[in-house]
Amino acid sequence: MTVQHDISLVVLAGILCAFGSWVTSRLYRHAGNRPTEHAIAWHLLTALTAGISIWGTHFVAMLGFRPSVPVNFDLPLTFASLLIAVAGCAVGIVFSASVKLRYASAIGGAILGLAISGMHYAGMIAYRVRGLVDWDRGYLVASILIAVVFSAVALTLGRRDGKWREYQMTGVLTLAIVSLHFTGMTAFRISPLDISGDYVNPEAFKMLALAIAGTAIVIVMGGLFSYAVENRTRMESIVELTAARNAAESASRAKSEFMSVLSHELRTPLTIVLGYAGILSQINSAQPKDAAGNPVQLHEGKVGVQAELYGQKIGTAANHLLTLINEILDYTSIELGDTKLTRTSFPVSDLLAATKDQFQVLAGEKSIRLHTECDDILVHADHRRLMQILINLVGNAVKFSGASDLHLKARRETDGFRIDVTDNGCGIDGAHIEMIFEAFQQIETADKRSSGGTGLGLAICRKLALAHGGDVTATSIVGEGTTFTLTLPESAIDGAVTSAATKVLGRALRNQKARPALPRAARSGVPGRGQTIVGG
Ligand code: ADP
Repeated sequence: MTVQHDISLVVLAGILCAFGSWVTSRLYRHAGNRPTEHAIAWHLLTALTAGISIWGTHFVAMLGFRPSVPVNFDLPLTFASLLIAVAGCAVGIVFSASVKLRYASAIGGAILGLAISGMHYAGMIAYRVRGLVDWDRGYLVASILIAVVFSAVALTLGRRDGKWREYQMTGVLTLAIVSLHFTGMTAFRISPLDISGDYVNPEAFKMLALAIAGTAIVIVMGGLFSYAVENRTRMESIVELTAARNAAESASRAKSEFMSVLSHELRTPLTIVLGYAGILSQINSAQPKDAAGNPVQLHEGKVGVQAELYGQKIGTAANHLLTLINEILDYTSIELGDTKLTRTSFPVSDLLAATKDQFQVLAGEKSIRLHTECDDILVHADHRRLMQILINLVGNAVKFSGASDLHLKARRETDGFRIDVTDNGCGIDGAHIEMIFEAFQQIETADKRSSGGTGLGLAICRKLALAHGGDVTATSIVGEGTTFTLTLPESAIDGAVTSAATKVLGRALRNQKARPALPRAARSGVPGRGQTIVGG
């Protein structure tokens, strides 16, 4: 029996199929990038778009099919085929998006392929012809397999990253729908009951096809429109957020610059105040001199012990103010990126010994025992800045912890080294551990407030450590004490010693074969006890 097609309707079906597949692909990829709470709605919209465009394609193509015998449609079954398309696409797409399986996209795609096949064959059953219908099983099975495989590939491509994935998914999905349709139609054989041969589809079929294609396109456009609106809103919020972030960054920079200039300006008069406070504090006991070395004329008779006391008080306050200003200046210059590290090579033991020296007197006054212990590490870093970090950590422990013992330990690690400053003092509550690393943050208790400070010390320490590629962290148990750890990366270690350490390790490993009971330190790649410098 001769079968003809209304070419204009076949073209219309093709356009609907390609357009629907493209919108489906775009929505599918968009849905995959949405936060979980929005993703499900976007996946369902994708399924609706896919189902309607696939069904529309099929139905328009069927209206363009001219088998030379009178045809009709079973409306309830035709409508059921639409439901099968939409529901099946929803199951496949939601499965591919929500099931945590390696091949979830492919399985979801296969479900979608089965849904398209189900829709197609339900539609074919709804297609009534005056003749005997026969199915070629080979083509029938092949059409289903084609739909399943192509759809699985399409959804898998749709989940992958890449500029052209959307178009690849569009192409493969279009191919799945078109191949299923034409292979399925090849399986469909009609033997007419009366061979009049002069039947043509009624004109109403064309109108119906146009109406269905138009409706499907409007629905698909609705999906595209929702995507465009959301995308635009999202882009606008990204632009707004970027602008807000840039504004905040430049405001923060302006603040840092202002603080920096202000601190510089405050420092000059403060130095003069300090100078005169120095003169005043010795007014009764010494003959002070001015900056040029000339004796200052005093009125001993009128000023005496009281003035000296006032001078000392002014000096103490001004010194405190100077420390504060210096810290602000330091912090802002690090924030502005004006600080350059001057790296030199020095043994870590020097660093610990110098820190210990600085605190010997103060620790003695507070009956704190200072202990140092370190591996043989040749550091390659900014000595002054590392000293600054350690002085701050030890100073804090002396000021705030109320400890009786303070340990400074430098240890080689596989990827660098660490210095622990451990006290057995009051400890810090877990809720405050991260807060104290923020600028101007102190733990507010009546007794600690009296210890002064700016709350900038640990913030500066962390920034200096970060500038070296490391970090400062803290662990603490309230009532038992705190450990502040400065970690520095391999780049902060002098290469000469690194290779020496490697040789030591190599030798140790060779010896291990001969002598199994090797000290633990040598086994872990850390120099053994003999190389550890211990002080106390
Ligand atoms: P500052 O020393 O200027 O107060 P820091 O940033 O150096 O500022 O320290 C922040 C706060 O952390 C201190 O005010 C103190 O309350 C707390 N702190 C720091 N080190 C210790 C420590 N070893 N034991 C207990 N509290 C500490």
